Amino acid sequence: MPKPLIVITGASSGIGAATARLFSSQGHPLLLVARRLERLEALGLPDTLCRKTDVTDRPAVEAAVREAEERYGPVDLLVNNAGAMLLGRIADQPVDEWERMLDINVKGLLFATRAVLPGMLERGAGTIVNIGSVAGRKTFPNHAAYVGTKFAVHAMSENLREEVAATGVRVVTVAPGAVETELLSHTSDERIKSDYQAWKESAGGALDPDEVAAAIAYAYGRPRNVTVREIVLAATGQEA
Ligand code: NDP
Repeated sequence: MPKPLIVITGASSGIGAATARLFSSQGHPLLLVARRLERLEALGLPDTLCRKTDVTDRPAVEAAVREAEERYGPVDLLVNNAGAMLLGRIADQPVDEWERMLDINVKGLLFATRAVLPGMLERGAGTIVNIGSVAGRKTFPNHAAYVGTKFAVHAMSENLREEVAATGVRVVTVAPGAVETELLSHTSDERIKSDYQAWKESAGGALDPDEVAAAIAYAYGRPRNVTVREIVLAATGQEA
């Protein structure tokens, strides 16, 4: 019996790439989307459609999903993982950084959800995993705009879970603490970046992205009548 299609946004690095490798090793066909196509293709995974797609471009997300479904059948799991963390203070952070985070982390997640949800509701089956954060549950210094987007992810995810619970569609929030990925590298304030790096080291290092992938696979792998609503995981040494 062929395994069903899994869609992963932001699969060109970090958690998304680790999740793509894990589900591919389990035999799933994949649709991987991100802006860096060469990084998606470099994963070299079988039965995988790689598409250069910006999650803020709703028609492009929709088109990639339709193309993948024509090739591999209906989407059974969407991992809403694409995200940006641009740390800064509200008083002086460039405003376009807020806009980028809101567009990618909040609107991008909604766009990908809309591309798969009607089909899942029709079939009465499917799982959506939204990658939140410990920063979607509590605040951190220099994180104000980012926590705004991640609190939004947690709220939308739980609200969607309630909305579709009776239909058989599952909605899961996976909330990691610090993970060793490229996420921090996009912050433009060098001082904030080095302070964050020092904080991660003082906690004995961050999670390996493979651990987050394993948590996603755990939730997805439960029987269809079980929804793991939320998984919060962080390095043992991370206090906050
Ligand atoms: P990375 O920076 O390594 O990965 C981010 C991914 O998102 C990349 O594949 C990137 O691809 C993609 N992405 C960014 N913008 C867009 C866009 N506009 N359209 C499509 N894809 C996009 O970081 P992580 O793996 O850490 O981040 C993954 C998720 O995990 C994020 O939602 C993040 O908020 C969350 N998270 C991370 C934590 C951490 O400490 N690392 C902690 C808690 C949550 P490309 O640039 O090629 O488009």
